[in-house]
Amino acid sequence: MQITITRPDDWHLHLRDGAAMAAVLPHSARQFARAIVMPNLRPPVTTVAVAGAYRARILAALPQGVSFAPLMTLYLTDSTPPEEIRRAAASGFVHAVKLYPAGATTNSDSGVSDIGRCAAVLAVMEECGLPLLVHGEVTDPAIDVFDREKVFIERILQPLLLRHPRIRLVFEHITTSDAADFVRDCGDNVAATITAHHLLYNRNAIFAGGIRPHHYCLPVLKREQHRQALLGAATSGNPKFFLGTDSAPHSQASKEAACGCAGCYTAAAALELYAEAFESMAALDRLEAFASFHGADFHRLPRNAGKITLRQEEWLLPTAFAYADGEALVPLRAGERLRWRLLD
Ligand SMILES: [Zn+2]
Repeated sequence: MQITITRPDDWHLHLRDGAAMAAVLPHSARQFARAIVMPNLRPPVTTVAVAGAYRARILAALPQGVSFAPLMTLYLTDSTPPEEIRRAAASGFVHAVKLYPAGATTNSDSGVSDIGRCAAVLAVMEECGLPLLVHGEVTDPAIDVFDREKVFIERILQPLLLRHPRIRLVFEHITTSDAADFVRDCGDNVAATITAHHLLYNRNAIFAGGIRPHHYCLPVLKREQHRQALLGAATSGNPKFFLGTDSAPHSQASKEAACGCAGCYTAAAALELYAEAFESMAALDRLEAFASFHGADFHRLPRNAGKITLRQEEWLLPTAFAYADGEALVPLRAGERLRWRLLD
């Protein structure tokens, strides 16, 4: 059996920079026509000029003959000026602004410490229609790590949407039934991305027979009831939900460590993993809209013209890929069998 669908896009991707980017970029470019590229470099991508230079480095690193469009984002800080948002909206290549609560995840220490300080910037985004992409977790150490998304909705997201009711907002990599319900109940200006790993795994995967660093990501995997809610949302056909891998490469040494980094590397087999999740719900006929239509429509971009084909055919994912500085990159499902294969 095989399915042919419109070439998809990845609405949340970490490409890193330099040699690391050169190592992972071909994987995403093979799977997707476009990707929203996260700005959490060191230092972060906070201006249109820096985003433009980063975009040029990505295009220069593409293998010859491969077409792939990086859609750039700006990293919101407490001191982002409103004029920078206007420049971004006018640039033609910056497609969104990313909100990281300070300290929430990888390279987020320059993030927003108090969203109240960003009111003028959010008002300009509301006016320009430039989407705000939100890492939706509170960083309050008093809140249990498994509850941080739910508490973020109550403390930050609901008040923000009351103050800026027309802002176009993507609640990224949602992990809970609370987030899926919240997005479903909001207006059409609010949408969400869902990762393949949150559709395929619950939090038991982190502790199966020992600590499993390659299943550790942020937001962390949740209970089975939440995974089921995410599967329901992704396969519902509701245009508010679309594909965003949050594929996040870290070297094997930095994952398999006493304090391992957060992030799952899924870019090399992203569509295969999503197909498996949709197949588990007997909803393969809904995969195309989730992967190829809903995100483009929300971001007001044309749908892609090309096609890709997935065949039901078992194959073995490599145990590791080559990464920067001679290091290895271990993908999610390393050395395991996948049920679907993306054809070239
Ligand atoms: Zn991310």
